[in-house]
Amino acid sequence: MNQLSDRINNLATSATLAMAAKARELRAEGKDIIGLSLGEPDFNTPDFIKEAAIEAINQNYNGYTPVDGYVELKEAIITKFKRDNNLNYTLPQIVVSTGAKQALANVAAVMLNPGDEVILPCPYWVSYSDIVKLSEGVPVEVQTSIDTDFKMTAEQLEAAITPKTKMIWYSSPCNPSGSVYSKDELRALADVLQKHPNIYVVSDEIYEHINFRGGHFSMAEFDDMYDRTVTVNGVSKAFAMTGWRIGYIGAPDWIARACNKMQGQITSGANCIAQRAVITALEAEPSKIKYMVDEFKERRQLILNLLSEIEGFKTNEPEGAFYVFPNVSAYFGKTIKGKTINNASDFSLFLLEEALVATVTGEAFGNPDCIRISYAASQDEIKEAIRRIKTVLG
Ligand code: PMP
Ligand code: GLU
Repeated sequence: MNQLSDRINNLATSATLAMAAKARELRAEGKDIIGLSLGEPDFNTPDFIKEAAIEAINQNYNGYTPVDGYVELKEAIITKFKRDNNLNYTLPQIVVSTGAKQALANVAAVMLNPGDEVILPCPYWVSYSDIVKLSEGVPVEVQTSIDTDFKMTAEQLEAAITPKTKMIWYSSPCNPSGSVYSKDELRALADVLQKHPNIYVVSDEIYEHINFRGGHFSMAEFDDMYDRTVTVNGVSKAFAMTGWRIGYIGAPDWIARACNKMQGQITSGANCIAQRAVITALEAEPSKIKYMVDEFKERRQLILNLLSEIEGFKTNEPEGAFYVFPNVSAYFGKTIKGKTINNASDFSLFLLEEALVATVTGEAFGNPDCIRISYAASQDEIKEAIRRIKTVLG
């Protein structure tokens, strides 16, 4: 008998992690799977960061850290926010967590009461919806389309607001669409929020540096939004440090204090060695990691060119992150190789089974017409993957 709580029974498994696990399983069975499912840079963590970690071990950084992070790391985060985002935070406004994922879970836990609504422009990052539900919040999906570059407009935001709306969560650059909100687009959203002073914003900027058009803008840069925006960031993507598990927030101090309290009861401070290494990562000029961004940009062009040769794939031109999010609904209702494809999940499974290419269904991101393809893979893998997809669909 299932004795588990409703909380866990009602929680969806992370679709990105599930697909990565499935790809790993099939590989162990000897299948030659190309993994384009996980949002994980295929680069090694840069040597200058690894050296800082080794140094930290040798210096015996091995004890519990302050729950909200080493002061030296929080100072480096403050300097980074000032340098890259023109944001002024003080020490009590910063909390370091075990990945941006925990940072988001903290914010949900400290901000949401049962029934509070959180507006999620679709497509949204896979875990937002379940993180919100875990805290008994209610995700409110706002559908966008390729025609607006998958961005929520001010009118759509206005229409989605109810007396129960507590927050809006979005990522820019966006996982999975790669869309980047401009300053003007954010201003239009902020103007709507002026009429609703009790709504808070989570601005997830973890792909900040992986931006091909330049011009990253943070919601908290607007003076009238600073006191109600939580800026989320982390080192997983830009520094190729997914496994090190360090993320952080800059927030109004009452929110940061609450996150600190929350974390103090469930995980304590994040890993000590990783925190020391991240000081070095954040103190470095962003130009030190530009070689990875340049490579992602080349791959983006490569994959867009290759996908444009396959009938039935409709894509936007992602301006950041390392995903393409093609609309594949042209295939729905078709039977290929004896398999009927009715939706994006069927399509993604078909690609896994027939082309041995792992992608993620758009349903996990709140968009049932698309699939997500990560191009955080080598150019050879991308070419081979798209060749296989073209062949099985052909
Ligand atoms: N936000 C977004 C938009 C992400 O894509 C990810 C990971 N892919 C995270 C947060 C979580 O990152 P991490 O926990 O590795 O810092
Ligand atoms: N966030 C990455 C992704 O979207 C990694 C997996 C995860 O944390 O869910 O693929």
